[in-house]
Formats: sequence, C-alpha cells, structure tokens
Amino acid sequence: MEDQFGRRIDYLRISVTDKCNLRCSYCMPVEGLDWIDREEFLTYEEIASVVRQMAGQGLRRIRLTGGEPLVRRDLPDLVGLLSAIPEIEDISVSTNAILLPQFGRELRDAGASRVNVSLDTLRRERFREVARRSERFFDATLEGIEAAERLGFSPLKINTVLMRGVNDDEIEDFAAITRDKPWHIRFIELMPTGDNLHLSKRFLSTDSVLRRLERIGDLHPAPGPLGNGPATYFQFEGAPGTVGVITPLSHNYCDRCNRMRLTADGKLRTCLFGTHEVDLRAPLRETGDVLPAVRTALAGKPERHLLQLGSASGSGGLRALSQVGG
Ligand code: SAM
Ligand code: SF4
Repeated sequence: MEDQFGRRIDYLRISVTDKCNLRCSYCMPVEGLDWIDREEFLTYEEIASVVRQMAGQGLRRIRLTGGEPLVRRDLPDLVGLLSAIPEIEDISVSTNAILLPQFGRELRDAGASRVNVSLDTLRRERFREVARRSERFFDATLEGIEAAERLGFSPLKINTVLMRGVNDDEIEDFAAITRDKPWHIRFIELMPTGDNLHLSKRFLSTDSVLRRLERIGDLHPAPGPLGNGPATYFQFEGAPGTVGVITPLSHNYCDRCNRMRLTADGKLRTCLFGTHEVDLRAPLRETGDVLPAVRTALAGKPERHLLQLGSASGSGGLRALSQVGG
C-alpha cells in the first residue's frame, strides 16, 4: 500500500473501543463523551477480516488502542485472530496498564509482544489531577507496569504527555528512570482537540525538555527500540533505557507517516487529524470486500496534518483522541 506521496503504509492502529476507565485531562472530559453504541462496533471477526485483506496488500504491523483497549471484553481473542494471519509480524497494545495484571498473560500468550503504557506522573498525589481518578488507579497503573515487565513485554515504552505547570517538574525524574531500567520514556507534545483547548497554555515543546535534560547528563542520539513510531530517541551515557520525544507540533513528521487508523465503528482514517475517513463497515457487511474502500482512503491520505496550537480547526472536529484511537 502506497499513497500519492510515495509513503508506504504497512502499519494499522486499531481502536477497539472509545471508552476508558480513566479521564486524562487532555483526553477525555470527566463526564465521558457521546460513546459509540456497542452495536456499531466492528466485531473481532470483522476486524480480523479487514486485517487479513489489508495484509494481502502489505500490512505488517498492528497496534490495538482506544479508549482503553483492555476495557473491551475478551481482547486476547482478537489478538489470537490477528496473530494467526501469517503476514502480520508485530502486534502491540497501547494501554494505561490498569488491567494488565488481569489480562496481560492472556494477551501475551495470544501473540501480543509489546505494550506502550501511558503514565503522566510519578507522584501518587498528582494522579487525581492528571487522570481524574483516585490514587488507587495510580497504584493499579504501577502494578500493571510491573506485570508488563514480569510477563516479558519488551521493549517497554512509557508515554508521558507534557503539560507546563502540571507535570513538567517531573521531566528529570522520568528521564532518570532510563539510567536504571531498560524503559523507553517518550515525552509527547500535547495535541489540541476540541475538548482540551483550555490546556493550550500548558503546551510545552520537547525542545525545551531536551535542553533541560542536557543539564543533568550527556544525551546522545540513539537508534531507539523496535517499533513503528515517529519518536526521536536519545540516551544517557551507559543507560539501559532511552528518552524519546514525539513532536507533532514543533517538528511534524508527516513525511515519514507509515500508518492508517481504524475506528471502533469501522471508519478507516488516513490521518489522526482532519475529516478524511472512509467507511469499511458497510462494504464489509454487504460484500465482504473492503479493498476498494481502502484504495479510496489511500488516495485521499493528506500530505500532512494542519494542527495549530490553541485551535481545534486542524483536528477536524475531533473532541478527543480517544474517539479515533490516539
Ligand atoms: N488508553 C490507552 C493509553 O492511554 O495509552 C490508549 C489510548 S490513548 C488515546 C493513546 C495515547 O494518546 C496515550 O499515550 C495518550 O497519552 C495520548 N493522548 C491522548 N490525547 C492526547 C493529546 N491530546 N495530546 C497528546 N497525546 C494524547
Ligand atoms: Fe483513557 Fe488513554 Fe485517554 Fe487516558 S489517554 S483517558 S487512559 S484513552
């Protein structure tokens, strides 16, 4: 699969639900969103059919995301269906880790090899402000990360969204972890969507993060762990882990884009932002053949996103990334 700008697309991020057990301040309003009806969701068999057809056209890697993917029942069953597709080389999961102690082993045994975990604070008392759930969810997150390590999910990537005046005093603490553990801590720039514009004043560019980290040690560019992402990686001398930065606003990486996204209700989106999406559910249910719709989507993949700080216009009407799978 190649788009009109010559970018090869071999990676699909699949959102299995828009619901979540947390309410991260930059992602979801406390009262939740207008959830997609469960009857609208693609079934696991339907998702597997889409992947099987796209695998014949060059799809090789899958990430399951959401919302929180582990709140959808029997997620390991989907992983099992996908890992049985011979062309699929890599299945990973983006999660807040809370349900990993419960489902991690089944996920791994079904064929998921890696997890990316969201963690925006290392301070228990701060969790309520950041994720708008009680501290016991913080404890559960840390237990989930421990479970990921114990079960051998590797490499382990931790995603931390940067917010000035909220968690920027923890940048050095997060980075210091990489000196002791083989974790890959990735600082992500806050992306503006309809529901988080009030956080625009909290935006912090990753350039300032790197300048701060250079004060506590020599940071060298590093190749980074296995994965498909847009992060740029660095490493402290002799450290087992790395520090990554993901810079959708300050330095966009659209020219290297290798991905498409499938929403829980079966829309194929060629860019995280913008309005371009093509429905796969109707053709799937009518003829079973989604490839003509996939080709239409590919042909319309935009050259780049048009996000701007302080405005929802570039996000194409999205209230939150959880609606399309961040
Ligand atoms: N619940 C899972 C999790 O939190 O990892 C998967 C879904 S979440 C939408 C995927 C990633 O998007 C997380 O790392 C989260 O921090 C990030 N994210 C969500 N909204 C964001 C925003 N407005 N700006 C930057 N990153 C965001
Ligand atoms: Fe849930 Fe992930 Fe959004 Fe946080 S970032 S509210 S964990 S979907």
